[in-house]
Amino acid sequence: MALHSSREAGLDSTEHGRFEPEKHRKNLLAIVQEIEALPNTGAVVDPSLMEGILRRYPRDGRGFYSRAQLIAGARYLAAEGALDFDEERFASRVRMRPVRTQSGVTPLTVLTKPYPCPGRCVFCPNDVRMPKSYLADEPGAQRAALNRFDPYLQTWNRLATYRAIGHPVSKVEMIVLGGTWSSHPESYQIWFVKRCFDALNDYGAGRDHRSEVPGDSVDFGGLVPQEGRNYNEIVGEHLRGRLGGEMLGSEESAEWSELERVQQENETAACRSVGLVVETRPDHLSVEEVERIRRLGCTKVQIGYQSLSDKILAANKRGHDVAATRRAMTWLRAGGFKIHAHWMPNLLGATPESDRADFERLFGDADFRPDELKIYPCSLIETAELMDYHRRGEWRPYDHGELLEVVTTSLARVPRYCRVTRVIRDISSDDIVEGNKLTNFRQIAEQELERRGGHCQDIRAREIRAEQIDEDSLVLKETRYRTGIGDESFFEFVDSADRIAGFARLSLPTRIADLKELQGSAILREVHVYGVATELGVRSVERTQHRGFGGKLVDAAKQRAQHEGFGSLAVISAVGTRNWYRRLGFEDGKLYQHLALS
Ligand code: SF4
Repeated sequence: MALHSSREAGLDSTEHGRFEPEKHRKNLLAIVQEIEALPNTGAVVDPSLMEGILRRYPRDGRGFYSRAQLIAGARYLAAEGALDFDEERFASRVRMRPVRTQSGVTPLTVLTKPYPCPGRCVFCPNDVRMPKSYLADEPGAQRAALNRFDPYLQTWNRLATYRAIGHPVSKVEMIVLGGTWSSHPESYQIWFVKRCFDALNDYGAGRDHRSEVPGDSVDFGGLVPQEGRNYNEIVGEHLRGRLGGEMLGSEESAEWSELERVQQENETAACRSVGLVVETRPDHLSVEEVERIRRLGCTKVQIGYQSLSDKILAANKRGHDVAATRRAMTWLRAGGFKIHAHWMPNLLGATPESDRADFERLFGDADFRPDELKIYPCSLIETAELMDYHRRGEWRPYDHGELLEVVTTSLARVPRYCRVTRVIRDISSDDIVEGNKLTNFRQIAEQELERRGGHCQDIRAREIRAEQIDEDSLVLKETRYRTGIGDESFFEFVDSADRIAGFARLSLPTRIADLKELQGSAILREVHVYGVATELGVRSVERTQHRGFGGKLVDAAKQRAQHEGFGSLAVISAVGTRNWYRRLGFEDGKLYQHLALS
């Protein structure tokens, strides 16, 4: 593994600033040795134990060392030969926010630059300093702005920060957010993704080309709302004014061949893309668009359903109908993509009763049934057009009881094959004019559901995180359900308590595929094995990730596809997982990998 050498990695200049471990050698050595002496349960060190150790060796006689400083210090001491130990294991024991990487992969979110959006949605914030729908004080948005919305800087610096605070960075899911991806020019899309791959490849190889990134030609920081003008007008004019009449800078463009070259390099890089996600609107998808985002290396699409009622979509000026969402789902599913839907209760015109009926359609109708779901109750933001409706008394946020009822009944209806990734958007309470400001609403709704004698069976409620598992208790379970293009088999390894150690999604289409490459094939849409993300190539005896569950899930999919009469199995592999599938016998096609079934 290349990555940065231990010494360089320990001293990365990141958001955490510069730290010189040599000045603290004695204390750091003592702290690391005490932590190493604790029994290794495979979990993060108990916070009270950690606090006791840190108190015994105060920084500069008073303060505590941060987790990032401890990890930087341990890497430095190991590189100096003062310690002989497994620095990655040490990092995993003291890492901050372990939950981030407990699902097996490290997520890395980057934002596109502010850019006009084809949507006119009344609930959408209009912060002209940010890509459409984001707010300047959201942490992810702040990071993006600090990095001038540049994809290379955002990716490289985030990798450095993750590594400094103890998260593995070898398997990364790149999540590209901001506005409507598909409305950006193709050359910008290629360039943006290429620069993310450049950063993954460079960071993994110990290269740092951040200083070569051109300076900020379009500073959005000073941009302010203007009376009577909308987001698109203000941002569009600002871009054109700074870029000689153009919306994109001359450097923000790349060719497919350039992207393909860096993708190939990423197949064996130390930081690999094991997933690439973009977000878009249903009416901006088509067979051609699906093929294009696949060519970018994309494996998952975040798509705003928002509502499954034409009346509500129209009232909120979404600009598309439910039929558009149906069509988009059909194309995405036929292309094997994982589908991450956004659904919004409390939209203009909705009631708690209509929302409950809407949610029924989400899983009751075979055309929808997303793999992942964000439940984002509509929030009232000062810059959104919804404010006008609120002032006129035509809309109000649900009260606590109404919202609790909608969210609780929704969570109870999520099937076991779906993962609810978020409930309530994580925006600052200062930005919410009126309505729910509790960010732990999911927890509150789950408790309410339990009080009513129910429970959540979605993936997130059941996934095995840092806990030990008894491998012998795991059984393979298959759930079949109908989709808009055929059948779907959801395979999962579960223990006796129904906790999930890994799963696979297999699409068994009954209609002719849009893409020639997929005709006659069953499609493996996802293979996911839980356990703390371990570095690629490192065996971890305590974790589930490298113990062959992935291979077993692929075998189960193969057998099912064969049994259903398919002649081949295609997989929508990420760039960084292509080698793994090759080892399992898959052969490279144009956009997918394929396994002939005898
Ligand atoms: S499409 Fe999305 S980003 Fe665009 S206005 Fe609608 S909600 Fe906002």
